[in-house]
Amino acid sequence: MYIKDIFTKKKPVISFEIFPPKPSASIQTIYNTIDALAPLRPDYISVTYGAGGSTSKKTVEIASMIKNTYDIEALAHLTGITYNKKEIDHILKELNENNIENVLALRGDLPQDPEFKLSEELDFKYASHLVKHIKLNQKFCIGGACYPEGHMDTTKEEDLSNLCKKVDAGVDFLITQLFLDNHFFYEFKEKTIKRNINIPIQAGIMPVINKNQIRRIISLCGAYIPKKFLKIIDKYENNPEALKDAGIAYATDQIIDLLSSGVDGIHIYTMNNPEVAKRIVSNTSSIVYALNKKHAV
Ligand code: FAD
Repeated sequence: MYIKDIFTKKKPVISFEIFPPKPSASIQTIYNTIDALAPLRPDYISVTYGAGGSTSKKTVEIASMIKNTYDIEALAHLTGITYNKKEIDHILKELNENNIENVLALRGDLPQDPEFKLSEELDFKYASHLVKHIKLNQKFCIGGACYPEGHMDTTKEEDLSNLCKKVDAGVDFLITQLFLDNHFFYEFKEKTIKRNINIPIQAGIMPVINKNQIRRIISLCGAYIPKKFLKIIDKYENNPEALKDAGIAYATDQIIDLLSSGVDGIHIYTMNNPEVAKRIVSNTSSIVYALNKKHAV
């Protein structure tokens, strides 16, 4: 099923994100994760794509397992920056052969190689180019990434204009980068409405349960860390169980506020930790159930 069609039937849509295990780890580890996530019946599970890296081939395999064995809708991430049209067509063919109907079309982070140039010669310089290309195929529902705090390469306003181009190219729904302060999401949502972006926007929420994880993520995406959140990290950094409890409570609080404000959906960055996803789903299940019921009437 196309994810855009799930959005027409359900509000809120709840999904999980997982990533392929490192090549040194057994593929079985991710199947254990999916085994634990599946009974939570998310509307879909997305699988990240390691741009040009060694885990990239696993994305199709894992997404196929989610769809064809667990009977849960799958969203395969796909990055364009390091590929040409022929290579992307090959991956799209594989996805199609595996019955996968949904693709999250991304540019990908720029390669670390100092020789790399973001040039017009690239087939997919920006995600919008990849979206246009996938659209030609007419077989996929296409998701895109968006950034409530702006993207690191541009100003907030430029990024919003670029987002309009991506949506015009054929994106069916959006998932946000993680944010720790909901006001960024509400401000962003208002701006998208003013720019006539009318597709569903799912809020990406990452429950932070370890200090190194948050340091790494913030350095990658530059999210603002609210004081309330810093206090939690400082107080419990040496007590993993307390930090986990506090991280789950913080994410739950964010999600309840978003749900109460009518968000289209929540995308939980599970970090392959099913226990955390389970606890968040349990904390919010009666609210999600009530909202879904109200929407269906
Ligand atoms: P784009 O939409 O192309 O935007 C990239 C930058 O270029 C932005 O600053 C934008 O404003 C600018 N831009 C866009 N179009 C134009 C234009 N026409 N002219 C000038 N500037 C322009 N990375 C992975 O490697 N694998 C994953 O699986 C993955 N999953 C992700 C999932 C989500 C939900 C999110 C939010 C991010 C994910 N990423 C992933 C990270 C993503 O690849 C990076 O954030 C990347 O830097 C930007 O990707 P994008 O698709 O948003 O790019």
